[in-house]
Amino acid sequence: MDLSYWEKKIFLKNIDVAIIGSGIVGLNAAFNLKKNNPSLKIIVLERGILPSGASIKNAGFACFGSPTELLEDLKTISENELFKLVEKRYLGLKRLRNNLGDSFIDYHNWGGYELFDNEAIYTECSEKIDYLNKMMAVITGKKELYVKADHLIKEFEFEQIKHLILNKGEGQIDTGKMMLRLLSKVQQLGVIILNGINITSLNDNEIQVNNEWNISAKKIIVATNGFAQQLLGNNLEVTPARAQVIITSPIENLTIKGTFHFEKGYYYFRNIENRILLGGGRNLDLKGETTTEFGLTEIIQNRLEEILSGIILPHKKFTIEHRWSGIMGLGNDKMPIVKKLSQYTYCAVKMGGMGIAIGSLIGEEVATLVDNDL
Ligand SMILES: Cc1cc2nc3c(=O)[nH]c(=O)nc-3n(C[C@H](O)[C@H](O)[C@H](O)COP(=O)(O)OP(=O)(O)OC[C@H]3O[C@@H](n4cnc5c(N)ncnc54)[C@H](O)[C@@H]3O)c2cc1C
Repeated sequence: MDLSYWEKKIFLKNIDVAIIGSGIVGLNAAFNLKKNNPSLKIIVLERGILPSGASIKNAGFACFGSPTELLEDLKTISENELFKLVEKRYLGLKRLRNNLGDSFIDYHNWGGYELFDNEAIYTECSEKIDYLNKMMAVITGKKELYVKADHLIKEFEFEQIKHLILNKGEGQIDTGKMMLRLLSKVQQLGVIILNGINITSLNDNEIQVNNEWNISAKKIIVATNGFAQQLLGNNLEVTPARAQVIITSPIENLTIKGTFHFEKGYYYFRNIENRILLGGGRNLDLKGETTTEFGLTEIIQNRLEEILSGIILPHKKFTIEHRWSGIMGLGNDKMPIVKKLSQYTYCAVKMGGMGIAIGSLIGEEVATLVDNDL
């Protein structure tokens, strides 16, 4: 492609930091670098017409850990590591809200619930509520974050559900509004965002675009989460994980309000105005869902519809109006990877399915790493 003198001079030359990926992490990295160093020339390179990984496809839970998920995680990482991570999610959400403003992202603290249809799992979990509350009080300052909430099963009109535990600190946001606000904040600071730019390889400080032409930058941040191995190779411990979502038509007299976790977090749903968003089911085909390809599968879509009509909305009339998928970045544990990979390249990936919560802080962390080296 023949680029004009102007394209080269104003947009593509003398770049201090190039950030690959305009999800929540990439944009927060840009935001912090530019805020602290207004004279830096920062460019964000995104292959989609919009941010196209998970940040604009997610469910909008402002969550930091449901009880069974935390107890499950304790089987693989130490108590200290886990609660440090939970603290990061909690503080990350505060940062997101402070940076963007609650009214701009439609933040509502309507609580998050865990649903139980199995007595044994509930008993095991409810016995640990005091322990979880003690650990979480240190982080949140709230004494009784998790409380039993069986009395609400009737109000929400759930079927097959025997118990509910409420997390009083959980909230929800409008994902689209969050990304719109973040994009406009970053652009207001003077960061250049280019869309339709597919980065095909990295070579020292050279970034190859569409296998055709190169951009060079003093520093490069890879913030491509689930797609990271495509540029950085298989040694990086982050694998793609597709997640499928559906949204119903508006529902008359919907009593469900809040965010909800079911089957150890494999299913999650919430109200959006008077509709229900439901996602999950990766556990039905973990191998098939380990992919960077967007798409919907019959087995997962059928199960989501079954849960909607059998458990969540058994007495309501609805149709499915929206279906989509997004790609997350997971690993053996839920710890994000923020590190310097070479003299030029840094990465901030593996958000572990909780990027709304930690993305703002992880963007900030990688920005500090780069800032210190500039
Ligand atoms: C369906 C779904 C529901 C979720 N629900 C929640 C939730 O409720 N709460 C929560 O905290 N988290 C949730 N998550 C996870 C959360 O959305 C992610 O952790 C977070 O958005 C990751 O942000 P990111 O910036 O690291 O990556 P992404 O948002 O994936 O951004 C990476 C960007 O890099 C771009 N890119 C990739 N490769 C290239 C390339 N070669 N060249 C140029 N650009 C490239 C992609 O197009 C993408 O825009 C959910 C995820 C999904 C998919």
